This record gives sequence, structure tokens and C-alpha cells, in this order.
Amino acid sequence: MAFGMKTTDYLVIGGGIVGLTIALELKKRYGKTRIVVLEKEKKLAQHGSGRNSGVLHAGFYYTADSLKARFTKDGNLRWKQFVQERGLRLNPTGKLVVAQNPSEVEGLRELKRRGDLNGVETHLISVQEAKAIEPRVKTTELALWSPNTATVDPQECMAALAQECAQQGIEILLASPYQGRRGKSVITPQEVIDAGFVINAAGLHADKVAHDFGIGERYRILPFKGLYVYGSEPVGSLRTNIYPVPDLRNTFLGVHFTVTVDGKAKIGPTAIPAFWRENYSGLQGFDPAEALWLLRDEALLFFRNDFGFRALALEEIKKYSRGYLVSLASKLLEGVRPESYTTWGRPGIRAQLYDHQAQKLVMDFMIEGNPQGIHILNAISPAWTASMPFAEYVVDKVEALHQGKALA
Ligand SMILES: Cc1cc2nc3c(=O)[nH]c(=O)nc-3n(C[C@H](O)[C@H](O)[C@H](O)COP(=O)(O)OP(=O)(O)OC[C@H]3O[C@@H](n4cnc5c(N)ncnc54)[C@H](O)[C@@H]3O)c2cc1C
Repeated sequence: MAFGMKTTDYLVIGGGIVGLTIALELKKRYGKTRIVVLEKEKKLAQHGSGRNSGVLHAGFYYTADSLKARFTKDGNLRWKQFVQERGLRLNPTGKLVVAQNPSEVEGLRELKRRGDLNGVETHLISVQEAKAIEPRVKTTELALWSPNTATVDPQECMAALAQECAQQGIEILLASPYQGRRGKSVITPQEVIDAGFVINAAGLHADKVAHDFGIGERYRILPFKGLYVYGSEPVGSLRTNIYPVPDLRNTFLGVHFTVTVDGKAKIGPTAIPAFWRENYSGLQGFDPAEALWLLRDEALLFFRNDFGFRALALEEIKKYSRGYLVSLASKLLEGVRPESYTTWGRPGIRAQLYDHQAQKLVMDFMIEGNPQGIHILNAISPAWTASMPFAEYVVDKVEALHQGKALA
């Protein structure tokens, strides 16, 4: 193939949900501007955006001062509108958060308080009321009901977004990894692209790309593997998503039941520390250099016990056992039989940012940038749900940078 040269106004690195929604927002604001999206894979949705739970979160988990709180409620509404307008599938499941013992009831009250502050509809309900919603649910004293949580099919949504990008004249270059840069030019195996402004939305690899631009050097992505097990119970056996009270010191929500868009129940995802970024199964995506530094980082976290990593890692590693995973889930729901949950689903890997100066996980979405580009460093859950308003926020920041302002 001949080596080519290309020029674009905006170059988005990464064709996940974050990259595509930002590309669409740029197009909406700047009309005729040229926008190119670089995607390293031959197909879209091969990582987080195609391997998640497909839950449109309602927005009650997050502290009111967070970007997550600011964008999730609106993101949920916008995605519902998007899928309905295009005739895509949506399952208006709702969600029950349950207390497994009296000490977790205060956790439900805290989630209710957060929901109220974020303007998100939630209801603290009795055990009887919870059982009227889902007869098999197990909870202590109270449950939290979120009527606006819903599920979609992430692959279906990604395909619709890609179609929208094509209609708007956004060029998505598949099998085109960012390999490095020379000044304002970005290098791929096929061409050199002269980019007016770069947006790094490379998910699991966003830290590497940012470091290349001299940005975010105190941060690194820690990959956490999310395993799922599918149930063989008939459609309708579970009416709503059932979640435990999460440990609010980290960003994971605990093993839960999700009702997929086609009515199937699945258990998961786990948050198992992974040994390389794309450590999905076997040696797929194995990168020895990456595995070496990740092992070193994880060993350090384990011994220093930053953010309770030791207990988290020891607990999560047990979830490689299907029996253990199902036994945990059976604390949330009556009649969960191990023989009904035997099929492992497609795992996903969370790109969780770690601040190695402060020695803690970054809990909120995070971007950094300069007049050359913006880097989305922490697009953790619920970045799927929040993607549309988050894209507007990012493009507001692009505008501010164009006007010579610093990022607030
Ligand atoms: C197990 C799991 C469950 C989740 N469940 C939910 C949920 O139910 N609801 C919710 O709201 N959120 C959920 N999330 C979070 C959500 O999926 C992510 O926040 C979101 O998908 C992040 O999107 P992204 O575009 O940043 O990343 P990605 O989808 O990973 O996209 C990044 C893209 O960049 C590409 N790329 C990387 N490096 C390069 C390079 N050098 N050159 C070119 N391209 C590159 C990758 O191939 C990839 O396609 C979940 C995540 C996981 C892992």
C-alpha cells in the first residue's frame, strides 16, 4: 500500500463511544470542518464500548460535585431518545439496589441522598414493595428503586453512531492505529496525518497516547477485567436489574444481575486486576513490556495497599471461579441455581485511571489538554450513558482552548 499524506482539522484517536460522540458534536458545531477518526481495530466496538453491561444508568451513585453526576441523568434521557428515534431495542428494566444486611441499609439511604441531590428519581421502598417489582429479590428492611435505569444493546448503538458519523461526512479510518507523532503530524501504518487539533479518546491506551504529547504523566491506566456469566432461565424470569450496595471508595458497583435488552439475565461484571490492557482471554493482546510494568505496579499497590487494593485484588481473583461468582449473586435473588448459570459471556476491561503521585484511583471523568489537543484520560463507567452530554463538555473545552483560555 502506498504511504499517504492527509490533512484534517480535527483528528480523534479512538473510535469508541467517546470518540464517536465527540466527532459528532464537533461536526454539529463546526459544520464543514474536516474530522477524521483513527481506530486501531478492523471493526468498531471491540473494547469497552462493545463489551459493557449495556446499562443506561440513572445517575444516583455519584457525588453532586462530580462530572458523572452532571452528565449521567441527561445522558440516560438522550440515549433513550436516540434508540427510540432509530427503532433500536431498549429494555426499560429499572433497577433495585438491595441491602444484604442491616449495616448496608445506611448505604441505601446514602444513595437516595445522592440521587435527590442529583435530581434523579429514586424511591426507598419496603421489602414488600420490592417483591412486588421482583418477587425473587432478597433485601433487608428497604431497597432503592430506580425506575429510569434501562438496558440497550451496545453493539447496536455503536453501529447506529457509526452510521450517523458516515452520514455527517466524518471519516472513520479502521485498522489505523496511532503510532506516534512528529510535531503536528500523526503517524499511522498507512499515512501521515497533519492534524489541526487532536482529541485522544483511546480508552485503555489513552494514557500512553497522552504521555506521547507530554500530558498526564502522573497518571496510568490500570485495567480491570469484567467477567459475565449468562443464565439459561427463561426470558421474564428476572424482571429488573438487581445490584448490591457498592463500596463507594472505588468506582465498581459490585457483582449484580442485569436483564439484557432481550430479557436474558446475566451476572457480573467482576473487577479483576488484569495483567495487560487487552487481557481478555488466553494470551490475546499480550504485550510483555506492558505486562512487566503492570505486574510491578500491581505488586506495589498490593504491598502498599493503596485504596484497599489488597483486599480488592484477593476478593476479585476468586471470581474467576464461576461457582463463587454465582454464589455471590445468589445473595441478591432467590432460586439462583449454579446449573442455570454456566455460560461465560464476552469479558470487558475497564480503563481505570490511577494517579501514582496521589496513590489513588481517579474517581471521576478526567480530561487534560493544551492548544494542540485534548486527552480523555478517564472515561470510566458510566461514560457510555453519559457520552452525549460529556461530548458537549469536551467540545466546550476545545472551544475554550481555541480562544486561548486554559482548561479549568
Ligand atoms: C465490563 C464493563 C461494563 C461496563 N458497563 C457499563 C454500563 O453498563 N453502562 C455504562 O454507562 N458504562 C459501562 N461501562 C463503561 C463504558 O463501557 C466505558 O466507559 C466506555 O465504553 C468508554 O468508551 P471509550 O470510547 O472511552 O473507550 P473504548 O470503547 O475502549 O474506545 C477506545 C477506542 O480506541 C481505540 N484505540 C486504542 N488505542 C488506539 C490507537 N493507538 N490508535 C487508534 N485507536 C486506538 C480502541 O481500539 C477503542 O476502539 C462498562 C465498562 C466495562 C469494561
